Amino acid sequence: MTSPFDKARQEHRDHLGGTLVKKLEEKGFHAVYVPTKEEALQEVLKIIPEGASVGVPGSVTIREIGAMEKLADRGCEVVHHWNPSLSSEERLFTLQKELLADFFLTSSNAITLDGTLVNIDGNGNRVSGMAWGKNVLVFVIGLNKVTNTLDDAIARTRNQATPPNVLRLNLQTPCAKTGVCSDCNSPDRACKALLVLERATGGRTSHVILVGEDLGF
Ligand code: SF4
Repeated sequence: MTSPFDKARQEHRDHLGGTLVKKLEEKGFHAVYVPTKEEALQEVLKIIPEGASVGVPGSVTIREIGAMEKLADRGCEVVHHWNPSLSSEERLFTLQKELLADFFLTSSNAITLDGTLVNIDGNGNRVSGMAWGKNVLVFVIGLNKVTNTLDDAIARTRNQATPPNVLRLNLQTPCAKTGVCSDCNSPDRACKALLVLERATGGRTSHVILVGEDLGF
């Protein structure tokens, strides 16, 4: 049975999701809010047709909603580089192929209350695919990533998103041990490129699917 506290929490998320959809639409994104990750997957499947190629440039959220398997089941070519058996040459080829797929499917490290998307990257492949492409861009973002201001969003990329990511990748950075960013100069530093998307960029369609659950880092 849902407790009154959970009900209030969910109601707040629904209102917040609706508010953010309006902000994103004003900024040129096609935006929708859904309460659950199952519904988020259905929204992804409404956008991406059977047989399309889909580049997934490293995203926990996309895996958590089950999109990889579902898209592959529908005959989509899912291109992603999170495969430890790839040689360095194959990995580079795959990273390029992700950018050239029909759809670029990813999440965002943070979204501000006024609908600005903020992302940090080590290789730069993810943020470059978000900044420009001829393909259709699709973001799936859990409301756990909402921040008040741009400064808060940048802090979130460093203090919430990156530490679990470096642990996942077994990188030797200070935040892997302390859990907080010290703006390190480590050879393994995962924060090298920061992208602030103030509006949907030109020449392509950009979708944002907001989800009323905690997803990704
Ligand atoms: S700058 Fe270094 S310490 Fe800070 S979050 Fe990035 S990798 Fe971690």
